[in-house]
Amino acid sequence: MVVYCPSCWAELEADMRICPRCGADLTAFNEDDYTVKLIAALRHPEPFTQRRAAYVLGLRRDGRAVAALIEAMDSSADVYVRGEAAAALGKIGGPQAEAALRRVLADRRASAVLRRAATDALAQITSGEG
Ligand SMILES: [Zn+2]
Repeated sequence: MVVYCPSCWAELEADMRICPRCGADLTAFNEDDYTVKLIAALRHPEPFTQRRAAYVLGLRRDGRAVAALIEAMDSSADVYVRGEAAAALGKIGGPQAEAALRRVLADRRASAVLRRAATDALAQITSGEG
């Protein structure tokens, strides 16, 4: 699994106990904390961090992230964050994610990047992989 430092979002090896960049004690974060931190990182000032958070939330398929991912997809200033949020919703799936993706595809003002991500994400949900 891809692992990022919950404190500074540096990319980590899975077996690291201390973040080499910021020195955070990685053993202090349990799984629930990690999801909560990832959701909070969707509002991080750096768009690249927001994208990473969306990507990892998709991999983790935690339904608690759906509402925050929908918000990021709808309102992030960065189109690639929006696309990554759409992709994550496709991985997590569920009726709420599906409805949000359909709404994006019905919106003619949505960007090409977001539309493509939403199309792929919806295909993933409706094919039963999500
Ligand atoms: Zn760190």
